[in-house]
Amino acid sequence: MTTDDTSDRNKHPISELNISPPDVTFTKSPLILVVDDDLFMRKILVRYLERENYRVVEAANGMEALKLYQDLEPDMILLDALMPVLDGFECCSRLQKLPNGDHTPVLIITALEDRESVDRAYEVGASDYVTKPIHWAVLRQRVRRLLEQANLRQQLEAANQQLAFVVKELQRLVSIDGLTQVANRRCLDEYLDQECRRSLREQIPISLVLCDIDFFKNYNDNYGHQEGDRCLQEVAQAISRATNRPADLVARYGGEEFAIVLPNTDEEGGMNVALRATEIVRSLQLIHEHSKVSDFVTISCGVATLTPWQNLLAQANHLLKAADRALYTAKGEGRNCVRQTDVIGD
Ligand code: GH3
Ligand code: MG
Ligand code: MG
Repeated sequence: MTTDDTSDRNKHPISELNISPPDVTFTKSPLILVVDDDLFMRKILVRYLERENYRVVEAANGMEALKLYQDLEPDMILLDALMPVLDGFECCSRLQKLPNGDHTPVLIITALEDRESVDRAYEVGASDYVTKPIHWAVLRQRVRRLLEQANLRQQLEAANQQLAFVVKELQRLVSIDGLTQVANRRCLDEYLDQECRRSLREQIPISLVLCDIDFFKNYNDNYGHQEGDRCLQEVAQAISRATNRPADLVARYGGEEFAIVLPNTDEEGGMNVALRATEIVRSLQLIHEHSKVSDFVTISCGVATLTPWQNLLAQANHLLKAADRALYTAKGEGRNCVRQTDVIGD
């Protein structure tokens, strides 16, 4: 078994990841929804905001505002506190329950700066407040600051999403063998160790199958490395098809050798999977004129099972050694076959 000649080819360059910076800056000028039952006041607000280069829509009461919010998804809401039909506080509180509602900044306009109104505004989810009569310089700064904050929050959210995606992708890349797309050695080691511990804890058996392609050196030497790689890919996928349970793991152990971890599987089950794997590989009928055991590519398998009463330390290691011994026997006894051995301690 050789591993070194494959290691470079199977490395996944990080540059394969398509990472670009988040782009959520406002493409159009922000849209502000102005809600006030007082027509005169509303028109003044609209004109003022339009002069500040915002796009503006208007509503005369809370009900209308909620409807417009859902239709237009404004970037911010300027909301009068005292209105008939549905007042600003109630409107703001309902808004929080709508999709993305709690992320849309709401600036409440209160008639008075009394403590009760201010407390209530924050309680119902408003981002800030301004008082009537409007102090225009204050309104201007608060609108600008709230929009900036919302924009930053959006950027942060997009960056977080991208980060989560990158982390997931990296996790996948570090555990996959690039050539064959089955789990890599690192993933196998971790999984085997974890599942051996679980088996001991839960007092259930665990089986391991090691599969090795027969006369693969001859295959490479005669058909070339590229054909050899293609063969490895096909064999890996064929071995994967021999497993049924979600907990079963097929991994590339190295070179032209694969491992199958079979949690909660006894000797008989392990043997069955190994036999199935050899059969599926055989049925691929990949021509191998330089094999001494068949006209097609075949594998030999070694199976070992750790039973619950074998309270061994370093079980994964013992299991691997046993499966390797069994594989050696299979090779010695003619190849293209499956052999099994007992796990023994030190
Ligand atoms: P046996 O039946 O006893 O297993 O003989 P074998 O020729 O299969 O075993 P040996 O260990 O002598 O040779 C393994 C070959 O596997 C040699 C090496 O070139 C080839 N190999 C290992 N990794 C790769 C790979 O990633 N791609 C290719 N194409 N060949 C590989
Ligand atoms: Mg080998
Ligand atoms: Mg081999």
